[in-house]
Amino acid sequence: MARIFVFTELSGSELSPVSQEVLTKARQLGDVEAVILDPQAAGATAAAGQFGAQTVYIGADKAYREFVAQPAAAALADLVEQHHPDLILFGATYDARDICARASAKLGLTVVANATDVEAQGGGFAAASSIFGGTQNVLTELSGPSPCVLMRPKSVTAEPASGGPPKVVEVALPESAPRGARRLDSVVAPASGPTLEEARVVVSGGRGLQDPANFELLEKLAALLHGAVGASRAVVDAGWVPYARQVGQTGKTVKPDLYLACGISGAMQHTVGMKGAKHIVAINRDRDAPIFKICDLGVVGDALKVLPALIAELESRGVSG
Ligand code: FAD
Repeated sequence: MARIFVFTELSGSELSPVSQEVLTKARQLGDVEAVILDPQAAGATAAAGQFGAQTVYIGADKAYREFVAQPAAAALADLVEQHHPDLILFGATYDARDICARASAKLGLTVVANATDVEAQGGGFAAASSIFGGTQNVLTELSGPSPCVLMRPKSVTAEPASGGPPKVVEVALPESAPRGARRLDSVVAPASGPTLEEARVVVSGGRGLQDPANFELLEKLAALLHGAVGASRAVVDAGWVPYARQVGQTGKTVKPDLYLACGISGAMQHTVGMKGAKHIVAINRDRDAPIFKICDLGVVGDALKVLPALIAELESRGVSG
């Protein structure tokens, strides 16, 4: 069996959703060995086992949270040199991208970023990814020892396995690990309702909303539908909403049951992040807007009139959020 390392991250003290997804994928490819480098690593070993890790390497040094990327990259590189895994999977998070880049550069490993799938091929592995704004899919054969693949969140549906508790191996922080960039502060964005990535309903707005104040309509509708608010890059770049809300190629990938695109043209760099939604509804006053090519229900109209009418209709039916 192939040995698959999964660089496993925590969200607070829990296994992060993308790590659950990547562990699920890794189980299909070989024996899974999770690497958790976090002061709270010990509390997450059982959860890693539930998602299929047979071995969990843990490093609980506080340097992994205090310093950006370098300590974790050094510890991961040491582990790879000792164990020679056949493949290393990461979720494509900000931290994992930094850590993968540093560890792979140190060891000269192949890297495929932004992958949507990994499959066994010819005794090795190949990674699928989209290029040119999601218009072309490529399958890249992974050559060389311990190739690394960064997987886009939401590429795989996370499913727990029925394995027993994993073997836990403690790893020390390498003394030579550089510590160049210290995190001085960390702020959790205040949130009400579900996160953009986890919401079953996403209500997104683009430049067609005309004014940042009109995002209040989206907030209200999202609250009624127990959803989250997303945005196109045009309005993020304009400073209307924070980057954390951006959906698309350079933002987040979402896969809700319902995606409501309001005043969004449907550029391919946007649709690549939401076209996996089960149902897409678009409101746009231009009947030729590209978003209408991919939606299940299209409303040609002024979003600033349609949205208040939709909210009033939901409220008149007793929907209260
Ligand atoms: P516009 O293209 O300006 O469209 C506004 C739409 O609103 C139009 O269709 C218009 O008909 C409609 N409209 C106007 N008024 C109303 C009204 N009153 N009611 C209803 N409809 C109305 N974009 C992303 O979104 N996410 C990304 O991650 C992303 N990454 C990118 C990466 C790269 C490398 C590049 C080059 C671009 C990227 N973009 C991304 C930008 C993308 O190409 C588009 O420019 C952007 O998505 C457009 O945003 P928009 O639809 O809000 O604005």
